[in-house]
Amino acid sequence: MAAAIEAARTNAHIDIIIAERLDRLGKKILATGNGRCNFSNINASVDNYYGNDSNFTAWCLKRFTVNDTVNFFNQLGVFPKEEEKGKLYPFSGQASAVLDCLRNEAERLGIKAVTGFHAVSVGRRKNAFIIEAKDGRVLYTDRLIIAGGGCASPSLGSDGSCFELMRTLGHRVSELAPALVQMKTDTSAIKGLRGIKVNGLLRLIQNDRYIAEDEGEILFTDYGISGPPVFQLSARLPFNNNITASIDFMPEYSPKEIYDILEYRRDNLSYTTMENFFSGLLNKRLGNLIARRVGIEKLSFNVGGLDKQLLWSIASVIKDYRLEIKGTKGFENAQVTAGGVLTSDFDDKTMESRLIKGLYACGEVLDIYGDCGGYNLQWAWSSGRLAGKSAAEAMM
Ligand SMILES: Cc1cc2nc3c(=O)[nH]c(=O)nc-3n(C[C@H](O)[C@H](O)[C@H](O)COP(=O)(O)OP(=O)(O)OC[C@H]3O[C@@H](n4cnc5c(N)ncnc54)[C@H](O)[C@@H]3O)c2cc1C
Repeated sequence: MAAAIEAARTNAHIDIIIAERLDRLGKKILATGNGRCNFSNINASVDNYYGNDSNFTAWCLKRFTVNDTVNFFNQLGVFPKEEEKGKLYPFSGQASAVLDCLRNEAERLGIKAVTGFHAVSVGRRKNAFIIEAKDGRVLYTDRLIIAGGGCASPSLGSDGSCFELMRTLGHRVSELAPALVQMKTDTSAIKGLRGIKVNGLLRLIQNDRYIAEDEGEILFTDYGISGPPVFQLSARLPFNNNITASIDFMPEYSPKEIYDILEYRRDNLSYTTMENFFSGLLNKRLGNLIARRVGIEKLSFNVGGLDKQLLWSIASVIKDYRLEIKGTKGFENAQVTAGGVLTSDFDDKTMESRLIKGLYACGEVLDIYGDCGGYNLQWAWSSGRLAGKSAAEAMM
């Protein structure tokens, strides 16, 4: 929609059609930001993006900046609200406001929407593109912008079919993987923790090195872990092997401070058993798992029996609780697709294909994805507007 709006604003003498496979436009927007639409982030820069060549985003993010996004939506009525870590939301807290303003503006500009149009093939006749839908309907156009997203959350429209369309046009598509998604872990390490939420520092470790970290609420599930830091760090999982997660359950304290806290508890609670030792410090069920990890199998173990070595072991497990990553919850649950149509076959100044004149691509269909926190929608707006502007200018 942003591409179509920018095209219509740039050149009033062209007919613009949005072809959408679902029965209405922009369904995914309603689901973003837990229904609040985290539509951008004031910190967005090239460093927040991944792909074979993340520098591809540089020119586009400079041409259509975060400020441009804020102004674009503010002009259409969506007043911005900045929240933690630079995340931007509509002040009203409703994703529907973002979708409504885009739809109203598209309508005002005379942009036509053809819904229920599932494009399954694209061909060329002379200089025109012929797009055929599953139900046999056909559209002809001089310029074509592919903005069909990736494979993440297919129930919201993006079923990966645009990768196939791009392949038939001769474009290469890199390996695909789900990102911004829950992580599956070794379940024995989280047995009994299902439903527990803790505040912690999550780290990813590869070859004994921390490669990323984020702090926040971590939710334990029957398959692994979820929550904001998990989604955030899952951006680093695609195409990276041998990654282990580590949780620091008391990031505010050093190992020595935790040792002192534990020693104090041991001395004051020496009359009780391990079953009660963590109560009031950590979640009880988590405490039981930590006890097991340091070799205390029986919860009837007397607290008074915790020697120096055991206290240090407990402190170090609290600071560094290791979980083997076994995968992710897949495209069905992912917010974005890592990988996509190779950007090396596109001009970063226009988003036009280097292989086929008049063909453009933008957003998630390209081999670019961003961190969690408004960066992916910012990329969709920036690249969409650049593609729309370029395509419309080429028809002047
Ligand atoms: C649950 C969820 C929450 C998210 N929250 C946020 C957030 O708060 N902030 C953020 O920055 N990002 C968020 N994202 C990611 C963000 O929504 C996407 O990166 C962004 O929408 C991609 O934009 P796009 O225009 O490239 O593709 P999409 O938004 O996926 O739009 C593609 C459109 O093309 C249509 N289409 C696909 N194939 C065809 C076809 N063959 N024929 C016709 N039409 C087709 C689809 O139906 C869809 O409407 C979230 C994603 C999900 C799934």
